[in-house]
Amino acid sequence: MTSYKVGIFSGDGIGPEIMKEALKVLKVVEQRCNVSFELIESPFGAAAYFDHGHPFPEQTRAVCDEVDAILKGPVGLVHSEAIKMPVDMQPERGAVLPLRAHYNTYANFRPVVLPKALAHLSPLKAEVIGEGIDIVMIRELLGGLYFGKKVSGEEQGIRFVEETLRYDEVQIGQVLKSAFDLSMRRKKVLHNIHKSNILQSSVLWNKILDEVAPDYPEVEVIHMLVDAAATHLCLNPGQFDVMVMENMFGDILSDQGGGLIGSLGLMPSACLGDGKAYYEPSHGSAPDIAGKNIANPYSMIGSVAMMLEYSFDMTAEAKLIWSAMQSVFVDGYTTPDLAAGSSGDKIIGTDAFGDRVVEKLEAM
Ligand code: NAD
Repeated sequence: MTSYKVGIFSGDGIGPEIMKEALKVLKVVEQRCNVSFELIESPFGAAAYFDHGHPFPEQTRAVCDEVDAILKGPVGLVHSEAIKMPVDMQPERGAVLPLRAHYNTYANFRPVVLPKALAHLSPLKAEVIGEGIDIVMIRELLGGLYFGKKVSGEEQGIRFVEETLRYDEVQIGQVLKSAFDLSMRRKKVLHNIHKSNILQSSVLWNKILDEVAPDYPEVEVIHMLVDAAATHLCLNPGQFDVMVMENMFGDILSDQGGGLIGSLGLMPSACLGDGKAYYEPSHGSAPDIAGKNIANPYSMIGSVAMMLEYSFDMTAEAKLIWSAMQSVFVDGYTTPDLAAGSSGDKIIGTDAFGDRVVEKLEAM
C-alpha cells in the first residue's frame, strides 16, 4: 500500500467547515484505492497567530517539510478584526506569502469550470455559456507587486506609499513553461494576458514568451490585454482554454472567473513549483458566512482532486471526484451561494453537500 503524509491547515472563517467535507472525500479515496493518507493537522492563519503568536508557527513550518503535500483552507479575518493584528502578522503577509515563497510555488492553477448541464448556475445567459466553460487560469504566484519592495513615508507633509512591481526572466520563464506544458496536454491554445501597452514588466514578459514559445511549436499563442480579457471572459468565455498572467492580474481575473460560473465557492486551486505543492480554494475565509453550515465546500473538495492529480498521480480518482460533485448539482441540489441561479433546486448545507459527494463516489 502506498502511503502519503498530508499537512492539513484548516485556516480561518469557513476553512474548518469546508476542510471537514474535503477530508470525508479523502477518506473515501483511501478506502477505494490502495493508498493511505497520514493527516497532520497544523495551525496556520489568524487563529494560529492568536493561539501560538504567529500565523505560520515554527511547528507548522516543520510539518511542511515533513509532508508530501499540503491541503490548506482559506485564512483571514473580517477587516475590522484584521486591523487589530500587527500588519506583518496578518495571515496573507505573515503566513500565505511565506508558504508560497518557501516552496517556490510559482504557478497557481485555477480551474474555472462549468459544464453545459450546469449553465443555470452562472449569471451568464445559456447561449453565452454555449458548450460550457472549461478554463485553467494560471496565475504567477511569487512575483509582481505582491512580493516587491514597499516603501512608505511622508514628504513635505504628504503621506505616500511606493510598491515595486518586479519580475525577472527566470520567474517569467518558469511559469510560462508550466502554461505551455499544460496547453500541450489540453487544446494547445494559450492566451497570454498582459498589459504591454503600459507596463514594462509586460514587455519583458512577452519577450520571454517569444523565447519559450519555439519549444512548443504546436501551441497557438493568443495575446490579449488584461482589460480586454475581463470583457471577453463575460462575452465569450468559451474561447479560452489555458490563460497565463502575472500575479495581480491572476488574482483579480480568477475571482471574476468564480463570478462567471456562479460562485467563488466553485474555485479550487493548485499552487505548484518544482518541488512540494500545496492546494487551497482560490477564495478567502468568507467571514460573512462562517459557522452557518452554508459555505460551498466544492472549492476545498476540488483542491483535494487537484492534489490527487498533481502530487500523487491519481488522475482517474481526481476525475471521479469532479464528476461526483457535479452530479450532485445535476441531481437538483445546490448550496445557498448558487441558489440565485438554480430556482427549484433543493438547497443543502455544507455538510450535506459533502455527504452527497461521498455517496456518489461510493456508488462509482
Ligand atoms: P472571500 O473570498 O472570503 O469572500 C468573497 C465572497 O464570496 C463573500 O460573500 C463570501 O461569502 C463568498 N464566498 C467565498 N467562498 C465561498 C464559499 N466556499 N461558499 C460560499 N460563498 C463563498 O473574500 P473577502 O471577504 O474579501 O475576504 C475575507 C478574508 O479572506 C480576508 O481576510 C482576506 O484577506 C482573506 N483572503 C484569504 C485568501 C487565502 O487564504 N488565500 C484569499 C483571499 C482572501
